Amino acid sequence: MKFFSTRNSSNTVGFRQAALTGLAPDGGLFIPEEIPQFSPAVLQSLGTMDFRDVAVETIHPYVKDDIPHSVLEDLAVSAYPFFAPLISVGDRMMLELFHGPTAAFKDFGARFMARAFSYLRRGEDKPLHILVATSGDTGGAVADGFFNVEGINVTVLYPKGRVTPLQEKQIAGLGGNISAIAVEGSFDDCQALVKAAFADEELKKMLELSSANSINISRLIPQAVYYAASAGIAFAGRTNSDGEASPRNEFGKRYISQDRTFAVSAGKPIMFCVPSGNFGNLTAGLYAMKMGAPIRGFIAATNINKTIPDYLENGIYEARQSKATLSNAMDVGAPSNFERMKTQWSYEELKTMIQGAFVTDDETRFCIDSVYKQYGYYLDPHGAVAWNAVDQLMVKDPSIAGPLAVLGTAHPSKFSETVEPITGEIPLHPALKDVMKRTVLSKLIPVNLESLKAELVSNK
Ligand SMILES: *Cc1c(COP(=O)(O)O)cnc(C)c1O
Repeated sequence: MKFFSTRNSSNTVGFRQAALTGLAPDGGLFIPEEIPQFSPAVLQSLGTMDFRDVAVETIHPYVKDDIPHSVLEDLAVSAYPFFAPLISVGDRMMLELFHGPTAAFKDFGARFMARAFSYLRRGEDKPLHILVATSGDTGGAVADGFFNVEGINVTVLYPKGRVTPLQEKQIAGLGGNISAIAVEGSFDDCQALVKAAFADEELKKMLELSSANSINISRLIPQAVYYAASAGIAFAGRTNSDGEASPRNEFGKRYISQDRTFAVSAGKPIMFCVPSGNFGNLTAGLYAMKMGAPIRGFIAATNINKTIPDYLENGIYEARQSKATLSNAMDVGAPSNFERMKTQWSYEELKTMIQGAFVTDDETRFCIDSVYKQYGYYLDPHGAVAWNAVDQLMVKDPSIAGPLAVLGTAHPSKFSETVEPITGEIPLHPALKDVMKRTVLSKLIPVNLESLKAELVSNK
């Protein structure tokens, strides 16, 4: 499988280069030259396969020139000691993507990427040094994904005082091969410092630098896995494994009534509603659909940063400044993966696969409240945006009725400051309990390249 840049289709590279360089030299994003197809045998058994096996079947065609099947199997086992339960809440399904160590769906991409990097760089004598700026969530997932991964050191820059205490412990509490730097400035300052470091000739000579940001194709492809797995499960009319469908789902009243919902979904392709920011998650869903997984379409749910819903409505793409909302991981005015979407599919094709809707903060709060009152289920603000988008579209377009899953991208306890005033206290995600016990081990630096360089060299 070759990958080419969204800005120049004649320059192709293999998976290894696409993953390790992240961005194409012309500034474009790497996309696969074709979407592979699941074999009929795999499609037959998607609904009964182990999650890790679905991961191998989904990812292998993209990486097979660089990662052998048996290595990929080990990689999937090591990356995914958790999976993505599909449960029912009322007459909808929730695809819970928050059972990984940082309680957000970014674990699926980051953990695979880290292990893929380590394998692709085996035998190199210099460690790879990953430098990443974060406004909060990405840093935690990347730090955790790469923690203790051989041959790789990570430095995360975050704006001092502007991430939550939990996020700071996720970023700066691991130690080992993960270094954290608190910058006396904003997220934009952190990003500018990272950019300056990548351009610095002296650093380039001393360190093997790489980035691990969300546009990396090796983070995107593994996100297709949970779509394929859950579409297969719903199509087969199965539960994930009855009582264990959500093994960690200890909160709330008993709302699980899988039998009814799953019987209804048997033999029918599913629709997913995806709470979206940079649109990596939704793009991965399109890959799973095009690979042949039984998916009938998508809803792109955003907060008031509604660049894509507007585009789907009128065909005009207009990037904007982002506005702050309760679902802050989706505060994106210029979604980076739009470049992938528009290069791979025309506006007409996108319209047949995706419907858009946007949700305000008031609607988000209202939705957390009403879903809690009706079903005893705790939605986080991102999941609530998606849930409410379905409600809105149901009124306008009854054709979306049918098996439908809302993606839960973060555990509600990660956003307790928003959720708890509405629902009352919620139990902390088990992984987050351990995180809270960590000590913050970060260095504080001013917004200054020389200070960053000194830190990087001392971590070498
Ligand atoms: C990153 C994130 C999103 C947005 O995902 P994209 O792939 O950027 O569209 C949604 N919810 C949560 C909780 C996130 O962390």
